[in-house]
Amino acid sequence: MLEMLHFSHDIRATNDRIYKIRNIIDMLRKAFSESFYPYQKLCIDESLLLYKGRLSFKQYIPSKRSRFGIKSFILKTLMKPYLGKGHTLFVDNWYSSPALFNLLYNNYTNACGTVRKRRKGMPKIHDRLRKGEASFRSSKNLLVIKWTDKKDVYMLSTMHTSEFTTVSRHGGEKITEKPLCVSNYNDSMGAVDKADMVISTVSSTRKSLKWYRKFFFHLLDICVWNAYCLSKHKTQEAISMAKFQLELIREILEKYHKTTNYHQRTVNNNPLRLIERHFPSLYVPAGKNRKRRCVVCSANDKRRESRYECQNCNVGLCVDPCFKIYHTQLNY
Ligand SMILES: [Zn+2]
Ligand SMILES: [Zn+2]
Repeated sequence: MLEMLHFSHDIRATNDRIYKIRNIIDMLRKAFSESFYPYQKLCIDESLLLYKGRLSFKQYIPSKRSRFGIKSFILKTLMKPYLGKGHTLFVDNWYSSPALFNLLYNNYTNACGTVRKRRKGMPKIHDRLRKGEASFRSSKNLLVIKWTDKKDVYMLSTMHTSEFTTVSRHGGEKITEKPLCVSNYNDSMGAVDKADMVISTVSSTRKSLKWYRKFFFHLLDICVWNAYCLSKHKTQEAISMAKFQLELIREILEKYHKTTNYHQRTVNNNPLRLIERHFPSLYVPAGKNRKRRCVVCSANDKRRESRYECQNCNVGLCVDPCFKIYHTQLNY
């Protein structure tokens, strides 16, 4: 069945490998940006953008450096609508570089994030630090921090000074000092990690699929997650992701299930009957004939009439065994 899943009739040879799914991506980007305008803080990390498994076009990008070029290109594209509007960007070391931070700064957008120590333009910080110590370097716009916690962490910021702050852990018992920049980053990125955690536990990505189909399912996961966040934001109700998904499935089935023409008769094949509570009742029509044709029997080319029906489904059914069959099997 999944082999039938495709998104473009266009089969021209092209360098744009995304064309197989581009119209879906464009549609979703439009829908997402129309549904929600971001808050002041923007967070971007690897997990929210790119599907974590293998994308086949990865292998077409030869060196690490040009791969980084593509990542920062993606980031600039993403950020374009939000530049110069007073947003603050938190970003992980997958994207960050001194060049990018300078570019954002020049577009009136502050940024803070972890960075790889060998990224082009990074100063060498050889200071040997003990746990809890930090070393700072700064240029006109940029602050670079080497901070030693469990291991060495490098951070870049266009919005912080070398200020420290106290952080209480585990309900305020243990108090530690941290650079303010590290503490702000952890607080802001915490929300992203949670999103990624939920997406990866409910992920519908399967193995051995064409990359654009996998990508489609990843997009679908993101849609569900976004819808979940919007719904929680709107209703202010604490509903679990699992419960939200069930609700969503129910609503989609109710809205989009089709009445199919089965054996030349129109049969209401709404799959919700498989999970709802239905009970048999006596068929009491206005006319004389107090029997209805059993849908299960007639689907199996048997002509049988029953005095019982399911009122929810509005079909006649033999009480035994057809009522059970009809309410437990999609195709009976
Ligand atoms: Zn029957
Ligand atoms: Zn029923």
